Amino acid sequence: MSDRQGLPASVDVVVIGAGPGGAATASRLAQLGRSVLVLESRPLPRFHIGESLLPPTMALFERIGLLDTVRAQGFVPKYGAEFSGPSGRFGRVPFDLQGPGRHPSAFQVERARFDKMLADFAQAAGATVIEEATVHDILQEEGRVVGVRYEHAGASHTVRARHVVDAGGRASKIAKTFGLRNHVDRLRMVAVFQHFANLDEGRNPGHEGDIQIGRHKDGWIWAIPIRKDVISVGSVMRREVLLEGDPAKLLDEHIRRVPRIVTRIEGTQPGEVHVETDYCYYADTVTGPGWSLVGDAACFFDPIFSGGVLLATTTGVHAAEAVDGILSDPARTEELQKAYSDFLKTGYDTYSRVIHAYYEHGYNIRPYLESVGMDREELRWYDNPWVVRLLSGDFWSRSEINELMRKESRWDTFAPFDHVLKCPFYAELNAAEGV
Ligand SMILES: Cc1cc2nc3c(=O)[nH]c(=O)nc-3n(C[C@H](O)[C@H](O)[C@H](O)COP(=O)(O)OP(=O)(O)OC[C@H]3O[C@@H](n4cnc5c(N)ncnc54)[C@H](O)[C@@H]3O)c2cc1C
Repeated sequence: MSDRQGLPASVDVVVIGAGPGGAATASRLAQLGRSVLVLESRPLPRFHIGESLLPPTMALFERIGLLDTVRAQGFVPKYGAEFSGPSGRFGRVPFDLQGPGRHPSAFQVERARFDKMLADFAQAAGATVIEEATVHDILQEEGRVVGVRYEHAGASHTVRARHVVDAGGRASKIAKTFGLRNHVDRLRMVAVFQHFANLDEGRNPGHEGDIQIGRHKDGWIWAIPIRKDVISVGSVMRREVLLEGDPAKLLDEHIRRVPRIVTRIEGTQPGEVHVETDYCYYADTVTGPGWSLVGDAACFFDPIFSGGVLLATTTGVHAAEAVDGILSDPARTEELQKAYSDFLKTGYDTYSRVIHAYYEHGYNIRPYLESVGMDREELRWYDNPWVVRLLSGDFWSRSEINELMRKESRWDTFAPFDHVLKCPFYAELNAAEGV
């Protein structure tokens, strides 16, 4: 059914936002035979921060039939993560130590190109994607979400839906409409970042394509090569530090504190400086009558371990499958929404605990790992397969380190919930290992 402008007037599912979370949701729903309308407020491709992927994203793409397309894009392969500090000492987490059968690499991506590729994939799967379509209102009837009102090409449109998935990221309309957002004061950092052109990876003192993470006294720096000749470098710091200084000068000063990043970007040309603030929040309620939240619309804690896109795409696919189940059998709504909500919270909860471990010890994860016996003379933390798995994106398993972190009650974020301790990517491998 179409409206007077020829746009859909009624669909199974409206997805707000065509970022990784929205595109993954829409792709899977379309593959399951649902009619899907994706509304994206900006024209694609569009700039977005969040450029370093984790290896299980490859397993997820494989599952939805996208892996070959991703591999054909020429994105920068990422085989590991390097952690260093002002002294120049470093440790490298090689993803191949996750163990056999697991994807040993991921990609560093230019998000504009990556997100456009995902939106095109959703469209090819059968979803309708409308760019420059901004959702302004969530339609409700008798306490249930029944559609949205959006603006497109100067006109206002209404579309009814059996379910609305909000993957609108930080701007989530549903989170705002229902007042779902909470902040975690201990994690409220800010980021200043810049792209540097003319990169020569020959200068990289470590491994080509790796993400570098460099800690210093006011926070930490990322260096992510998003093209062969372009590197994204950002400084994450406490809000007070940014309030007292000029963003560009602070970024420059912080980079200079990390010698291995200085060496890598020597001879490059800096571009425009960007600032991101207020990106740390979570929602305790992520589903309701006729709606679900996916990815950043539900939670975002901190970029330190590059979990954002993995969590957004994984919750997107899971939300799609839950919604499909609900539409097929509405009597299962409560059960499926609870399972989805628990799954989402398990992933974000585990991710948030690694972040707490890192921040609690002055931007260094090692003291925590030492304190629980995961860093020892004979097995350094960056060679420990369980730590490598965790830092590669193993947020749902029962591994020893995950279980230890789950016991640290001072890091609890969500109200008590039932953990879903089953790896969504390598379930059989994990079951064989009893994790
Ligand atoms: C400083 C920083 C660095 C980061 N680095 C990394 C990293 O290295 N690796 C990583 O994996 N993650 C990283 N992240 C996180 C990552 O950017 C996000 O987790 C990821 O983009 C989430 O995807 P999403 O689809 O949920 O939301 P988004 O990517 O934000 O997509 C939401 C989309 O919804 C659209 N939208 C919003 N409101 C509306 C509306 N009303 N109507 C229509 N459309 C709407 C937006 O235009 C947008 O395109 C970083 C984040 C920050 C802040």
